[in-house]
Amino acid sequence: MDRDDTIAIIGAGIAGAAAARRLHAAGRRVVVLDKGRGPGGRMATRRGPGALRFDHGAQYFTARDPRFAAQVAEWAARGVAAPWGGPGRSVGVPGMTAPVRDLLAGLDVQCGRAVGRLVREDRRWRLAEADGAALAGGAAFTAVLLTCPAPQSLALLAGAGLDLPGLAEVRYAPCWTLMLAHDGPPPLDGPVRENRDPDATIAWVAQDGAKPGREGATVVVQAAPAWSRAHLEEDAADIAERLLDALRDLPDVAGPVTVGHRAAHRWRYARVERAIGEPCLYAPGTGLGFAGDGCLGPRVESAYLSGLALAERVLAESV
Ligand SMILES: Cc1cc2nc3c(=O)[nH]c(=O)nc-3n(C[C@H](O)[C@H](O)[C@H](O)COP(=O)(O)OP(=O)(O)OC[C@H]3O[C@@H](n4cnc5c(N)ncnc54)[C@H](O)[C@@H]3O)c2cc1C
Repeated sequence: MDRDDTIAIIGAGIAGAAAARRLHAAGRRVVVLDKGRGPGGRMATRRGPGALRFDHGAQYFTARDPRFAAQVAEWAARGVAAPWGGPGRSVGVPGMTAPVRDLLAGLDVQCGRAVGRLVREDRRWRLAEADGAALAGGAAFTAVLLTCPAPQSLALLAGAGLDLPGLAEVRYAPCWTLMLAHDGPPPLDGPVRENRDPDATIAWVAQDGAKPGREGATVVVQAAPAWSRAHLEEDAADIAERLLDALRDLPDVAGPVTVGHRAAHRWRYARVERAIGEPCLYAPGTGLGFAGDGCLGPRVESAYLSGLALAERVLAESV
């Protein structure tokens, strides 16, 4: 592989950011493209009215692997992350996007760019929007690293007549998330209420505004996977009311919860239910690879480690 060439990374979530930072540290040029308004992916922060902010995707992260533990400790030392929500758990500060933004600081990150086509030409890759408009100034890339959720990555590959064996096996559970601002007292005694009963409506309630670096009387509620799947195509406004009713019905929640703002968000691909079981996928000699939580499992840490693994794979081929 030509060391002077640029590597395109599709997706500015934690996997893409980890890959980008590792490749940059090894002296490689990277361009990161994301269809969203800003980096973070499912480590997401949503704006509400006024100064309200909600972490409506990943709620916290844990670190079991020494490499991610070292990264989390380094973030904590610089105030990019802080403990919250229970033993061993951390959150980004001032929002869940902060660690991703930190990894991408100073790199070429282009948001609002939805990659619709991969084109293989003269042993290089070019990227285009779905209507064929060139992306990244029409640049040719030595490698293209896909870090969007598996179904979106598969669609891109299929459009180019390509495949990465194993990718089609990945399955995700959906998640309906309710974001609300309450006028009355906090609905919970502690920071979170968790319920692992698969038949429950609500799996998770967090006093979002009480996380470090946040402000506001805000709460994030996540529906359980089975409930989310059963109601996946329903209207977001209706879902918000149903989840609010379910919240008020919880026995250990102070009620009635007096609500100011409310909004529901549907995550079609929230948590991985079936992962590939390999750190990453890579097609030798082509520069084409996939990383993300679809590789090792449904956690921020897994996605980070997968991004690192793919970067190492690319670097190993360049030696
Ligand atoms: C509701 C919810 C709760 C969760 N709770 C937790 C938790 O508490 N703890 C935990 O560890 N994990 C949690 N997770 C899982 C965790 O968020 C993910 O495992 C992790 O963030 C995945 O990172 P990723 O980089 O693999 O993918 P993503 O974060 O999804 O990043 C992929 C990026 O690709 C972009 N993209 C997609 N298609 C295109 C395209 N065509 N062109 C350009 N860009 C594209 C997307 O915009 C996105 O930014 C939760 C997830 C959700 C949704």
